[in-house]
Amino acid sequence: MGNTSKQYHDFWSKWRGQQPMHPVFELHGSHLGRCVPICIHADEGTSQKKRGMLVLQTQVCMGHGTRKRKADQDSPGVNFVGKSLCTRLVYSVMMVHVYSGKKGKKEANPKPLLRLVDHLATELRMLFEQGLDVHFEGALQRIWLVPIAFKGDWPALVKIGQLNRHHLRDTPTKEGGHGICHLCKGGMPSNAWHDVSFGNMNKMRSELPMPWQREPGIVSNLALGDAYKHLFFRIDLFHTCHKGVMADAGANALALVDFVYENESVEKCLELIYSDLKAFCRAESLQLHLQSLTRTIVGYANSSAFPAGNWFKGADTVSILAYLEQRLAGEIPALEDKVREYFVSMAGLLQNANLFMRTVYHGALWLDDRERDILIQSGRAFMAEFMTCARLAYSFDMCRWKLQPKYHMFAELVFELEVQKRAGITSLSPLTFSTQMDEDLVGQICSRSQVVSSRTVHERTLNRYRVALFTHW
Ligand SMILES: [Zn+2]
Repeated sequence: MGNTSKQYHDFWSKWRGQQPMHPVFELHGSHLGRCVPICIHADEGTSQKKRGMLVLQTQVCMGHGTRKRKADQDSPGVNFVGKSLCTRLVYSVMMVHVYSGKKGKKEANPKPLLRLVDHLATELRMLFEQGLDVHFEGALQRIWLVPIAFKGDWPALVKIGQLNRHHLRDTPTKEGGHGICHLCKGGMPSNAWHDVSFGNMNKMRSELPMPWQREPGIVSNLALGDAYKHLFFRIDLFHTCHKGVMADAGANALALVDFVYENESVEKCLELIYSDLKAFCRAESLQLHLQSLTRTIVGYANSSAFPAGNWFKGADTVSILAYLEQRLAGEIPALEDKVREYFVSMAGLLQNANLFMRTVYHGALWLDDRERDILIQSGRAFMAEFMTCARLAYSFDMCRWKLQPKYHMFAELVFELEVQKRAGITSLSPLTFSTQMDEDLVGQICSRSQVVSSRTVHERTLNRYRVALFTHW
């Protein structure tokens, strides 16, 4: 990626603020300029006969930046520019049925997957302790790889981290359950996960048990530092926002169908909105993969269903929110008082959502103080408006703005920035652990796996990957 020893050294001096007891400082304190921070990613893609294939990959954290903010000598970027085939390295592929069991035939057996992950962790431990020799800054030098994060969608994190507190553990009918968040006690008895105030988020961290019954192999095999083991599993901005709380906000903000178009069916309203949305995206040069807006896509199956952003491409969320911000603002003057209050709140929410997303993509690897302040303020305002919208929709007797565990995970992203601001330490961009580019690589590998013999699918997929890597390198 062309980073210099000075940049690596600078990375670790900032990282020391976050994890001062990380083993890298004890073992490699004298040569931090040759220690390379990396992430591990796991995800399932679609292989032969629509079966799943799990791809494990590793990647460096410091990359060429984003399209909006390229890396330079003074400010390294996140790893979001360049072909994913060349900016990430595939470690292994495994057909999902090898470890999940065939439907109705046998129980899931995660052991093969966990053994594979242990194997990766053992190799990475060796590269952390012993390093490897490479040509770096004009000479053959030893470098060391330092894993700092595991990233993926929630199911991947749960499977590989063997987490017993996660998003699927929500128990809406009881006062508390096992907990929905591996970073705090949210969702456990007397710990309300939807109370995302700084005080409560802080309180939910006191006497926090580790989020697993038995420490997963990936944690015990890597050198992470005892206090930071659970922090190794990072929140993915992509599934939390683009495919999560912000997509749902977009679907809910399609309240145009309830208040703006009179005497039209919901289907017809969605059709009209889609054609307006398409024209907006064309005029603003925004991408839009959606071919139509339907009840299924926006979760409006019937009047008792809560809307959800079910569109396939997370990137469409950015375009839909940009459209809705200007569209709702334009509708406000013509609305009657009570509905106007609802629309003003939604417009405020959309404005803050868009500001949050814009700031993230315009930031470098490390946020400056101004960018962090914007993320904290817009993130907090987004969450507050979400609650206001839920209250107002309730007053209209409408099923809207359902709080999902991803709302809490978004709050975790903002809370981390607030904690670091108060401690006076530098913050990494939340985009560092986001998975858009990783999913792109998973898609490429899985599509190559669809055209090889099923009996030798693992070996031949990796062979095709090697050829592709050689061609594009
Ligand atoms: Zn939490």
